[in-house]
Amino acid sequence: MNVEDEDERFRAEVRSFIAERAPRLRMSEGTRAPRDAGEEREIRGWLGALYEAGHLGAGWPPEWGGRPDHRPTRDLILMEELFRARAYRPLDQVMLASHEILEFGTEAQKRAYLPRIRSGEHIWCQLFSEPDAGSDLASLRTRADASGDGFVVTGQKVWCTDGHWADMGMLLARTDPAAERHAGLTAFVVPMDSPGITVRPIREMTGSAEFCEVFLDEVRLTSENVLGPVGGGWSVINSGLASERAFVGANAVQLEMMYDDLVALARAARLPDGSRAIDQESVQATLAELLARTEAAKLIVQDTVRRIVSDEEHPADGPVAKLVYTELNVELCERALGIVASAAHVDESDREVVERWYEAFLWSRALTVSGGASEIMRGIIGRQLLGLPRA
Ligand SMILES: Cc1cc2nc3c(=O)[nH]c(=O)nc-3n(C[C@H](O)[C@H](O)[C@H](O)COP(=O)(O)OP(=O)(O)OC[C@H]3O[C@@H](n4cnc5c(N)ncnc54)[C@H](O)[C@@H]3O)c2cc1C
Repeated sequence: MNVEDEDERFRAEVRSFIAERAPRLRMSEGTRAPRDAGEEREIRGWLGALYEAGHLGAGWPPEWGGRPDHRPTRDLILMEELFRARAYRPLDQVMLASHEILEFGTEAQKRAYLPRIRSGEHIWCQLFSEPDAGSDLASLRTRADASGDGFVVTGQKVWCTDGHWADMGMLLARTDPAAERHAGLTAFVVPMDSPGITVRPIREMTGSAEFCEVFLDEVRLTSENVLGPVGGGWSVINSGLASERAFVGANAVQLEMMYDDLVALARAARLPDGSRAIDQESVQATLAELLARTEAAKLIVQDTVRRIVSDEEHPADGPVAKLVYTELNVELCERALGIVASAAHVDESDREVVERWYEAFLWSRALTVSGGASEIMRGIIGRQLLGLPRA
């Protein structure tokens, strides 16, 4: 069987696995944290099932559960199918932590954490951003001071996705205030129930609480909690962030689905005179323009994926794909709400589409900030692709 046929067989296998096993949760882009213990059980069970079936974590070394026949395109296929089915997706924080532990962990750390990730027992969060350190993360002030065999950590973190139900946190803290600022940082693996940790969920405008503030007050860690070299934390977390790239292609599927939803909305929305929004010339012009931009964005994203898979990636590829996807996502949401605003009513049978648009709109700005804000992406593109001088 050739590679394409094998991938198609894998796609069919994943699709039926999702149809049979994915929990039916009422999730949307902006509300993915479990609302109660039952949902949490289902999510952990689902993540565990994806690992057990060899769909998730397939790229890990075989001794830690990876598949010898794994190819990066399969990660993409899995993500595309999860998007298409609107099924619960693997948590970025967990995938990033796995990658960092596989690359930098000691044997003891791998034994302690990797099987618990695979079983769904451990959910991870990232304790990086602080009230005064986001885009400029290297300015963070949380201190991890050496004490005996270990460290005492004090500081405040913010925007920690899933912090309120995570079992473990990947922490970046300053161990050497005298060193050059990137060199003075160390990565730690931290049990979230450690004495001295207080987690406060932040309620967002979607109504859900996806993020947390996390306060660390003299939290005691041992040298076994250090991930990678002391002073090497910057490389540890950046290696993890780079591992997200292979999943960027699924964004093309999401744009396609959003565009289809926009057409469905324009069909369902009725103007005050009873006509359908889609019959208006101005709405048709909007749909045509957005179709062209969606197709262009898909081509850019697919081109990025092709280069990632063949190891020909340019440093600006990720930022270009992220910028195009997230900014178009915002615009699709704004145009959709424009159609809703001009409508007298929307056919009851299409209520679900309208709900999806409201939620997507409220969440869309977050995507232009997470994983590097649009302005930061533009800066990277300017310097790395266009060769412009640093401002
Ligand atoms: C959905 C989501 C999930 C997140 N999850 C996590 C998580 O799990 N763990 C975690 O630690 N953090 C998380 N974050 C936080 C995220 O990493 C930060 O929000 C991000 O790095 C931006 O930092 P900031 O919010 O402090 O904004 P700032 O850095 O203060 O930026 C504010 C504005 O100034 C602009 N700006 C800043 N510097 C420059 C510059 N040099 N040039 C031009 N413009 C600039 C920015 O683009 C932005 O518009 C998450 C954020 C979001 C939205």
